[in-house]
Amino acid sequence: WTSETVAVVTGANRGIGFEMVKQLAGHGLTVILTSRDENVGFEAAKVLQEGGFNVDFHRLDILDPSSIQDFCQWIKDKYGFIDVLINNAGVNYNVGTHNSVENSHMVLSTNYNGTKNIIKAMLPLMRQASPGARIVNVTSRLGRLKGRHSKLENEAVRAKLMDVDSLTEEAVDETVTEFLKQVEEGTWESGGWPHSFTDYSVSKMAVNAYTRVLAKELSERPEGEKIYANCFCPGWVKTAMTGYAGNISAEDGADTGVWLALLPDQAITGKFFAERREISF
Ligand code: NDP
Repeated sequence: WTSETVAVVTGANRGIGFEMVKQLAGHGLTVILTSRDENVGFEAAKVLQEGGFNVDFHRLDILDPSSIQDFCQWIKDKYGFIDVLINNAGVNYNVGTHNSVENSHMVLSTNYNGTKNIIKAMLPLMRQASPGARIVNVTSRLGRLKGRHSKLENEAVRAKLMDVDSLTEEAVDETVTEFLKQVEEGTWESGGWPHSFTDYSVSKMAVNAYTRVLAKELSERPEGEKIYANCFCPGWVKTAMTGYAGNISAEDGADTGVWLALLPDQAITGKFFAERREISF
């Protein structure tokens, strides 16, 4: 990896995203810090530039199609391609359980649809070269389908999302649509959806599942044109999202994402990680 290697991090004006930019730039990459707020993002990038890091800035709101289009055009004109895309931007309004229909829509549109939209827009701009471009999605153990952190009680949804061989993007979309429909109807509680961090857990479950679908599609590309896609949980991190109540720093939370982005020439794709170890979906 050299300064010729271009990485993009979404939602990077603060928290884990900001730290990932700093660490990637520390490894010698050229890193584009993006933020939905122009001034805040510009200032965040300036802090790193003044610290000697090779960081550039552009506005990017993953909820806004015209902002995505703008950003892609800028990348095309200024860099031509990217090698690494880290989808870090996200929101969470659930401290306890689901709290409003509006919040559910916002969380699912940002964390799931926004992430998908930026991935789709950036894919044609990802460099087709060895050792292969990388997509890293920041998700959460709260989106796990089984095990200690999983809060999902809907067996049909679990079975559908676990079956990676038959899993499709449409199936993930349908799951999200079904959840939002039940939220609107007020029936989500009996639907077996997570009872804590409800919207957020469903959104991360959907991104996890989409990561597997995407990785499968991309793995069908010929040798030399591969793009590897993985996701990770940063842990419980002291950022604005947790009200700074986490148990690790943003610097430590960023570690696995940076490690995944920089994995040497290894065909690791469609996997879920935490603390640099593979964990089950
Ligand atoms: P922060 O709230 O500090 O950072 C979230 C970032 O996402 C902010 O920069 C925010 O921008 C940005 N963002 C939100 N919506 C959009 C949008 N529409 N377009 C572009 N950017 C957007 O939280 P964290 O650093 O903790 O979160 C980073 C990622 O890590 C998230 O995906 C989160 O779900 C995940 N995560 C965090 C955990 C934790 O314990 N903190 C645990 C597990 C996962 P703005 O400043 O303008 O709001």
